[in-house]
Amino acid sequence: MNIAVIGGGVIGLSAALRLSAVARVEVFTRDDPAETTSTRAGAVFSAFDAGDMVDVLSASAVAFAELAGDGDAGVSLRPSSEYWSRPGPIPAWTGVVAGALGTRVQSLAPVGPYAGGFRLTVPQVDIPRYMPWLRGRVLASGVSITRRAVDAVALLFGEGFDLVVNASGLGARVLAEDPAVRPMRGQVVHVPNDLGLTEALDATEPDGSITYIYPFAQHVVLGGTYEHDEQACVTEPGALDAMTERCRGLLACTGRAGAAGLGRVRLRALAGLRPARVVGGQREAVRLELERTKAGPVVHAYGYGRAGVTLSWGTAARVVELVGMV
Ligand SMILES: Cc1cc2nc3c(=O)[nH]c(=O)nc-3n(C[C@H](O)[C@H](O)[C@H](O)COP(=O)(O)OP(=O)(O)OC[C@H]3O[C@@H](n4cnc5c(N)ncnc54)[C@H](O)[C@@H]3O)c2cc1C
Repeated sequence: MNIAVIGGGVIGLSAALRLSAVARVEVFTRDDPAETTSTRAGAVFSAFDAGDMVDVLSASAVAFAELAGDGDAGVSLRPSSEYWSRPGPIPAWTGVVAGALGTRVQSLAPVGPYAGGFRLTVPQVDIPRYMPWLRGRVLASGVSITRRAVDAVALLFGEGFDLVVNASGLGARVLAEDPAVRPMRGQVVHVPNDLGLTEALDATEPDGSITYIYPFAQHVVLGGTYEHDEQACVTEPGALDAMTERCRGLLACTGRAGAAGLGRVRLRALAGLRPARVVGGQREAVRLELERTKAGPVVHAYGYGRAGVTLSWGTAARVVELVGMV
């Protein structure tokens, strides 16, 4: 079987790698694979409101845990603490991940402006290492990656492909004619990890903004913003300064010495447009299904919003199942 995958982000590449075991696969990507939204991700395991994707989430957790043993992939299993400004239930996704990894979710006591939270061990993905590693694995499996903007899914069936996987992120708004697909801009700053941080921290602030600190070996990701329907893929100095200040506050109130020095030096500032799919208020209304179009079978895998890295390997496994149903 000849399969075309539209999309060279984390969803398309993960699916292509798994499919390469059962088919001849070619990936088409409009953007340079080094410049996709996926290369801007944090990326710490967090499922947000990923709805009914329990099996996908669980399979992803297991696959990333296996990769944590591969020194080149840049994946580690480490604690992550999330604080919230108003008390609330611990989200259901944490139980799924803890169950898959055989770990426990711990409640956190109130601290500073936060009313509590939770802590658990999750996969954490060093994106500047991981995305090139993933691309390398895809190429080594015999899959070709071609820079090309596909104008319509149906065209690919005329080029000898038997099936198309549509992992085009925001491109699905046009390719799948799906107006629910909308951009959600995120801005982050990478700074040196000169404080020797090892634990990821997230917090929902009293004004609703979200602060996060994701440490890796060579850098720390400071975030973030969630700007709905913002199309301009650029960073804004005021937003970067504000998030850096919030990160210092979060670090200080959780008892870390040297918090005031966090982010004094910046390695890079990045913006990315998350491919949200908004249905009934849910922002990760992922479309992961087989559609039998007149031109041929299409497996859609888009709408991952804030959780594309988190759900990538489970999605890839599901894409293989859906292809098997054709
Ligand atoms: C600042 C930031 C922080 C984030 N942090 C996290 C995190 O901590 N954890 C997490 O799980 N997620 C995180 N995310 C979200 C995550 O990055 C996305 O959910 C994920 O990258 C979506 O992957 P994708 O493959 O669907 O889309 P993309 O990475 O956008 O890839 C889409 C691909 O489709 C191609 N394409 C589009 N249209 C066409 C066309 N017509 N023809 C050919 N190719 C086309 C593009 O060129 C690209 O290759 C973050 C995102 C941002 C911006």
